[in-house]
Parts: sequence; structure tokens; C-alpha cells
Amino acid sequence: MNEPVTPLREVRESIDHAARIAQRETSGIELIAISKTHGVDAIRPLIAEGQRVFGENRVQEAQEKWPALREEYPDLVLHLVGQLQSNKAEDAVALFDCIHSLDRPSLVSALGKAMAKAGRQVPCFVQVNIGDEDQKGGCAIADVPALLEAAREADIPVIGLMCVPPLGIEAAPFFALLAKIAQENGLDQLSMGMSGDFETAILLGATHVRVGSALFGARD
Ligand SMILES: *Cc1c(COP(=O)(O)O)cnc(C)c1O
Repeated sequence: MNEPVTPLREVRESIDHAARIAQRETSGIELIAISKTHGVDAIRPLIAEGQRVFGENRVQEAQEKWPALREEYPDLVLHLVGQLQSNKAEDAVALFDCIHSLDRPSLVSALGKAMAKAGRQVPCFVQVNIGDEDQKGGCAIADVPALLEAAREADIPVIGLMCVPPLGIEAAPFFALLAKIAQENGLDQLSMGMSGDFETAILLGATHVRVGSALFGARD
């Protein structure tokens, strides 16, 4: 009997398809299910289907939803994909397994201290303001090398670069640019691609895709 077609299966099949075209292994592409705004009732069916890697964009919301689930499922992996205030650095280090929004010197300093204090090195992506947008988080492209150097000095393990391209225009050039900046800086992980463009991101080298609405439905 065929298994039912669920959003998770459809997204996984799209990932497999893009990986095949790109001649990449699916195992090199992490699907992060972005569950922001959705309650535990919406998260449980994905866990039941085998999904273990999730992402949230707010520390406080994650603190309300995840500690109980993590006790139940010790193999859950939780990523922070939203802007992080320095005064939440200790909470973020305690709760998350990976942080995608390292984007400024003050946060390097706060996270460095929080990791040292907790004795817990949380892998981070440096978020790049790839479309040079005023309102967006992320480090300016020109400032990436200095921020990476500061993170090294603070003993923060930076594993790659992350971006959220400008809305409403073709994302591919921005994904390609992020890949180029990562390569120039000796980084091999790329957090890029969301519900509307994760296949494109995979063709351009994404190692982590952050998919919300394609899995959970539209947010209010
Ligand atoms: C919400 C969010 C996503 C997921 O967006 P969808 O379009 O719902 O897939 C990915 N990355 C970040 C940083 C987000 O805030």
C-alpha cells in the first residue's frame, strides 16, 4: 500500500529531486522545519513522520514550546533562525543546537561569553545582508571577514553563511553570491532557501534549507 502523500513527503521528494539534478547526495542537505507561530499540536505529526530537525525565530516562543518535547524526544535538534538580541544570548545557547543569525560584533561578544559560561559551543552561521537592505538583519558583505575573525577570537564555531534574499525578486543570484562569499572565506555550509525557493537554493549549494509554510501551511 502506498503511504499517504503528506507535506513532509512532498518537500522531501522535492529535495531529492533537486539533489539529483545537482548531482548531490540528499544526506548533505538538512531540512529544517520552521515551526514558528505553530503550536505543539502542529509539530507532533511531523515528529511522528520522522522529522527531527526544527527551527524557531524567537527565543521566548521556543522556550515555551520545546523543552517538554525535547524531554520526550531526546534526538530533536533545534535551530534558531531569527534575529537574536544580545541579552538573550545565554538563553539561546542553553536551548538551541545551532544559531543562524550571528550578524554583528556585539552579538559575537555576547555569544562568546555565553558559550564560555555554559561550557557549550553552539555552531553558528553568519547571517549576511545579501541584498543590502536597510530593514534586514545580517552583516554587510564587506564586513564578513572581520566578523569571522572576531568570532574566531571569541571561540565561536562558525560553520557557514546564511541569508534571506530580498522578497519578490529572483533569489538565485543572491544564493550564488552567498556561495561565492562562503567559498572566499573557507566556509562550506550554506543556510539558504525557504518554502518558495529551496530547490533553487539546493542547485546553488544549500546545505541547510529552512522550510516553514510548505510543511505547516500559511502563517496568520
Ligand atoms: C519564517 C522563516 C523561514 C521559513 O519561511 P517559509 O517561507 O514559511 O518557508 C525561513 N527562514 C527564516 C529566517 C524565517 O524567519
